Amino acid sequence: MSLLMRDGRVVYLGPADGEPDGRDADVVDASGATIVPGLVDCHAHFTGLGGANWIARFGDPDSELLARADEAARALTRMGVLTARDVGAPHRLNLKIRDAVRGLTEAPQILAAGTWIARRDKFPPFTVFVDSAAELRAAAIAEMNAGADLVKIAVDTGRTGDEVTFTVDELAPTVKVVHERGRKITAHAQGKGAAVAAAAGVDSIEHGFGVNAATAATMAGRTALVPTLSVLESFIGFAATDGGRFAEGKHASEALREQAFAAVRAAKKAGVRIATGSDFGGGSVRPGHLAWIETGGPADVVLVHGDPLSDPAALWRVWRVYHRGERVS
Ligand SMILES: [Zn+2]
Repeated sequence: MSLLMRDGRVVYLGPADGEPDGRDADVVDASGATIVPGLVDCHAHFTGLGGANWIARFGDPDSELLARADEAARALTRMGVLTARDVGAPHRLNLKIRDAVRGLTEAPQILAAGTWIARRDKFPPFTVFVDSAAELRAAAIAEMNAGADLVKIAVDTGRTGDEVTFTVDELAPTVKVVHERGRKITAHAQGKGAAVAAAAGVDSIEHGFGVNAATAATMAGRTALVPTLSVLESFIGFAATDGGRFAEGKHASEALREQAFAAVRAAKKAGVRIATGSDFGGGSVRPGHLAWIETGGPADVVLVHGDPLSDPAALWRVWRVYHRGERVS
């Protein structure tokens, strides 16, 4: 198999014996490696620091959040993550970082949601709070007017998401106006909110630990699931490193992890589209997804050691990264 990249595009993908003249090209012997499309992280927070105190760290000065975001963008690219969706930042700083790195080879393409929108006092304080369906709709319009690529709302609260914060009827006008403007809307739902968000027709559900067979059936064909399983691994890990509430909640986190795997299984069984999301920066890890390779497509490819189809961990063994045809690591 041979792949030729020129001017940021894939210009040949096919058998080596049919390859065009590549005399002036840099030749990479990729024996033993797999060429995979640039990875995608569908749930990221570039301004977040991750770790056990991620919520407090979103309150750091804007200049620090932006510096952190720039660093995360560059780190992500070196790891082969060439597209990322930022699903929430204080003060819409994710729109700023998206615009600052647009077109750079050493940063991923970023799709940004602006600031989270939630029911008053039902989400951390850096959120845009609303008190009614009308305010929710107005807040979504405000984020889109500010340049958000998608809208992010929270539909339940608490670690297990037992308290649902909007009804289907309250969500419907907001989903409608976002779609009228050709944008997407995604919902944070850790528990019972998933059923409500799916019924309201959102485009994706973040976390979705509460997705069961019935909700998955509603989601199939229109609502994707972004499971962010690494968050629960982090919470369980924080029990040992940070103690406190994570130690107290360790068994609950383990139960939630089981529930999360069951949710992914239910989604897969129902044919729901599932997207990878690390939730880096938010309650999880530091910055550490999927595209395609075709002739004429972008030259965003990653060489990994091994075969990720039989061994997904090969995706962590990144050897080389080419973004827009340029080698970045
Ligand atoms: Zn998140």
